[in-house]
Amino acid sequence: MFPGGQLMTTTDVENYPGFPAGIQGPILIKNMRSQITNTIISEQVEQVELIYATPDTHKKTSIITNNYFKITTTNNQIYYSFIVIVATGAIARRLYVPGTNENEYWQKGVSACAICDGWAYKNKTVIVIGGGDSAMEETMHLSRIAEKVYLVHRNKKFRAKKTMLDKVKTRTNVEIIVPYVLKEVRGGKRMERAIIYNADTNDEMVLEAKGLFFGIGHDPNSHIVEKCVDRDVDLYIKSDRNGCTTCPGLFACGDVKDKRYKQAVTAAMSGALTGISALNYYKMTLRRNEY
Ligand code: NDP
Repeated sequence: MFPGGQLMTTTDVENYPGFPAGIQGPILIKNMRSQITNTIISEQVEQVELIYATPDTHKKTSIITNNYFKITTTNNQIYYSFIVIVATGAIARRLYVPGTNENEYWQKGVSACAICDGWAYKNKTVIVIGGGDSAMEETMHLSRIAEKVYLVHRNKKFRAKKTMLDKVKTRTNVEIIVPYVLKEVRGGKRMERAIIYNADTNDEMVLEAKGLFFGIGHDPNSHIVEKCVDRDVDLYIKSDRNGCTTCPGLFACGDVKDKRYKQAVTAAMSGALTGISALNYYKMTLRRNEY
C-alpha cells in the first residue's frame, strides 16, 4: 500500500463537489496533503493495540481515560496515543488472470470502479464481473452510459438483493451470462476482448468489449485493529455515524467502516464527522483542572 489510498489509482473523480470538470485522484490527494499543517509521518502501520495507561502517563498527559494505544509500524517504530483515528480504507477485489495485471490492461480497459471510470465508455461495450449488489450497481450505472453491458457471474444464483437484480433485468442493453468465469483479457494498446469459460462445461466464449469492471466486493483494511475493536461479518469496523467504535478513543472513518457508498466525498464527510468526534472526546477526557 502506498500513501494516498484508492484515489491514487483513480483517474478522474467526477463527483467531488467544487470541481465541475472533475479532478484527477492524485491531484485531489496532493491538495489534501498540502492543506495539513501538522506533521505527517509516512510509515506502514502493522498493528494497533489497546494497552492501559498508568497514573504516571496520566500525569504527563492530563487525560482521564485508561484507554491508551500502542501503534507499531513495519519499521518497528512504536508510537503511543490516547486517540487513534483509523482511515485505512478498503481495497476493491480484483481477479489476477492473464491481461488484468498492472503491466497489462489494468486501467487500460480493466478497472474496479464503474463510478470512477465508467464515463469513458460512452456508446461502447463493457463487461461487469460479479453477482452481488456492487455488481448490480456497476451494471446499472454502466447501462446508462455504455451501448451494451455483459454481466458475467460465476454462479447461477445471485447474492444481490432481488430488487437490485430485478432492476438490472429491466435494462434492455444488459445481457446476463452465467455461470461463466473470466479466463483472460486480450487487446492491443487497450483491452479489446475477454475470454470467459462456462463453470460447468468449460466451454469458452469470447466477448468483444472495450472495458471490464470487477464488481466482486471490497476488503476493508481493518486487520491492524483486529485486537481492539469489533468488526462485522465482512470485517468492516463497527462504528456509529460519528466514527465512534466499540473501543473508546479509537475512531474509524471512510471505507474501512462503510461498505455501501465508497465515494471520495462520502469518505471526506465521514472523516470530518469523525475528526469532530475525536476532538470532543479529547475535550471530555481532559482533567477538569486543565480547563
Ligand atoms: P458481495 O460479497 O456481496 O458479492 C461479491 C460477488 O462477487 C459475489 O457474487 C461473488 O460470487 C463474486 N465473487 C467474489 N469473488 C469472486 C471471484 N474470485 N471470481 C468471480 N466472482 C467472485 O460483495 P458486494 O460488494 O457486492 O456487497 C458487499 C456488501 O455491501 C453487501 O452486504 C451488499 O448488500 C452491500 N452493498 C449494498 C449496496 C446497496 O444496497 N445499494 C451496494 C453495494 C453493496 P458468489 O456469489 O459466487 O460468491
